Amino acid sequence: GASLEALKDVKAVVMDKTGTITRGNFVVQRVCPAEGADIDENELLWLAAACEGASTHPIAKSILAARQTDYPAADSIREQAGEGVEAVIGGKTVLCGNRKLLERHGIDLAGFTGTPGSTEVLLARDGQLLGHIVIADTVKADAKQAMDRMQAQGLTTAMLTGDAQETADAVAHELGIHEVRARLLPEDKLTALTELREKHGAVMFVGDGINDAPVLAGADVGAAMGSGADAAIEAADVVFMNADLSSIPASVQIARGARRISHQNIAFALGVKLLVMVLGLAGIASMWLAVFADSGVAMLCVLNSIRMLYIKTE
Ligand code: ADP
Ligand code: MG
Repeated sequence: GASLEALKDVKAVVMDKTGTITRGNFVVQRVCPAEGADIDENELLWLAAACEGASTHPIAKSILAARQTDYPAADSIREQAGEGVEAVIGGKTVLCGNRKLLERHGIDLAGFTGTPGSTEVLLARDGQLLGHIVIADTVKADAKQAMDRMQAQGLTTAMLTGDAQETADAVAHELGIHEVRARLLPEDKLTALTELREKHGAVMFVGDGINDAPVLAGADVGAAMGSGADAAIEAADVVFMNADLSSIPASVQIARGARRISHQNIAFALGVKLLVMVLGLAGIASMWLAVFADSGVAMLCVLNSIRMLYIKTE
């Protein structure tokens, strides 16, 4: 339908990072109390779990999975999309999220180096940095191959993420992704997409629906990973049946192949009709030739179209 039409003209593929390019199966690697903070590793993880207890974000799940003990109930919890969680625990304000969240609350991060290149969750209580938790995510097995194929198809590749710049750059470098926009809030992702469209032409956005449903709806073609959230599946034009990145170049190849076949059909049908018309004017076309030029040609076009089902996607 209309999406297949739009898909064949796509010039750039813009992808979300977490859950789309990476698996989104975060695992806690290290728990690092800040120098001089009066807290140990266990307590830091315990506090993080208290903040993340109600979140469904893959980061939250990894923290809950890593904790050793039960965690205290928070007095209140507020999740800020693309940043983390603000909680009140035992009457104290606790922040659990990225640098952006802490900076916005005026926490001094001047002396904080953290672990560049990895996804970090920072914790602060009552305006003081307590430490950070290092968590790792892995890129999908077919990511490099899928990026190479998109490049061979002449597509520009881009990645949007709410994660830190260094983490985003490391992934983009590993996979040869052309453009990177990091530290984006969910609403910034739509702005970034609009910029990329102005620069490159029609864009396809691929996401998993966690913090990216508005972008999915705003792209020329919005595609949701089959593993994605329900919101994604509703906002998308295309839904992949699996979580493989190779579905992206495959879908573009199918759309382009379908265009080629429909052009063949139009040329063939008009050609035969024109020929029979000329023969008719010359007085050498039979009734049966005319029937063939109409119904026979239509039949052959249908048969040719069936080839669309056999477009090789490797
Ligand atoms: P992406 O854009 O890579 O798909 P998200 O928009 O879901 O990622 O989140 C962006 C960033 O916001 C994360 O990398 C993380 O730093 C922070 N974040 C979001 N939700 C949480 C949470 N529940 N706990 C801690 N940090 C979070
Ligand atoms: Mg996401």
